[in-house]
Amino acid sequence: MKNAEWAARGNKVFIGTYNRFPAAMVKGSGCRLWDADGKEYLDFLAGIAVCALGHCHPAVTGAIRRQAETLVHVSNLFHTQPQIQLAELLVGNSFADRVFMCNSGAEANEAAIKLARIHSGEGRYEIISLAGSFHGRTLAAVAATGQPRFHQGFEPLPQGFVHAEFGDPHTIEALVSPRTCAILCEPIQGESGVRPLGSEYIRAIRDICDRHGLLLIFDEVQTGLGRTGTLFAHEQLGVTPDIMTLAKALGNGLPIGAMLTTENIAASLTAGSHASTFGGNPVAAAAAVEVLTIMLADGFMASVREKSAYFIDKLQTVAARYPLLTSGVRGSGLLLGLVLTDRGIEHGADIVQQMFEEGALINFAGNTVLRFVPPLIVGAAEIDLLIDRLCRVLDRLT
Ligand SMILES: *Cc1c(COP(=O)(O)O)cnc(C)c1O
Repeated sequence: MKNAEWAARGNKVFIGTYNRFPAAMVKGSGCRLWDADGKEYLDFLAGIAVCALGHCHPAVTGAIRRQAETLVHVSNLFHTQPQIQLAELLVGNSFADRVFMCNSGAEANEAAIKLARIHSGEGRYEIISLAGSFHGRTLAAVAATGQPRFHQGFEPLPQGFVHAEFGDPHTIEALVSPRTCAILCEPIQGESGVRPLGSEYIRAIRDICDRHGLLLIFDEVQTGLGRTGTLFAHEQLGVTPDIMTLAKALGNGLPIGAMLTTENIAASLTAGSHASTFGGNPVAAAAAVEVLTIMLADGFMASVREKSAYFIDKLQTVAARYPLLTSGVRGSGLLLGLVLTDRGIEHGADIVQQMFEEGALINFAGNTVLRFVPPLIVGAAEIDLLIDRLCRVLDRLT
């Protein structure tokens, strides 16, 4: 069966929450995908920053296969080896002492919100997050998300969420009240257009937390796990959070999320206070153990930083070559955005569509930038190919 037939069948049965490309993907390997018509794509979306080791990484596939043949699910009424190994790896390589496992980014943020509230005690429930942030689609996560377009029609949202303007610590501090328990932010805003908070701003946020006794929660669902060239983005900012959430790349495509915190804060969640039936499922956890083992091996992060420098250089050349359409590059590691001018923004969706037709997958984040989040194993030749296709598309627009 071909793309068109699959799309027609899918469009008949799904609730229309997604605007999908007209392709049914059937196979993936490394940075490549193939659709039902046999067309090959260069994948610089990686399942929305999920397949950090590329599609069907042999070692991860092997770990999934072995675990699937051994034990798939028992619930959290029992210990399982992969989940313990994963938690040890996360704790051993972060500021945290304790981990709660779940299945997605939104769920990890829900866990963080619940922990911040229960730890802070009665009357202290309010969470400050930033305009332009994205924290997921469940009701509390969407309430934390600082973009009104995600709220519309779903009110009343859970209470206790306020949003500060992006970029100015004073607007955050002005919102602090006796009700406040935490500040939640992404080190680099991903969905709203690859907007880095920067180390000065993030340090000011940490300072506000310290002066007012608030918890600092970093949503590293997108920035974490090597995406920015270090295991966690905050390592480059000189700031440590109290709580951190992870998901996307953790299972390289299997659904798994995690909420990490320190011993003292973790003690506020006791048996029965929070749970997940599937969270840290043995198969997803086995995949994640393999992901972390590969990422923690010597040279992996250095290679991400090398490719990042190479890619940034190429994107800057593109920005210089098409000044009518693009105004620069931002982001870090392999979470990069080519910033579009007003004229470029008008063509943003069209550029993504034409890239798709050229066999290159990217997206238009926050209606401001072309976002590139390739697998972290991307090669220089693949970056060159992507840039060629991008220039071909941009040439047609100028
Ligand atoms: C993708 C994302 C989420 C939501 O993750 P889901 O797995 O879709 O629930 C939350 N926060 C950030 C920063 C994200 O990029």
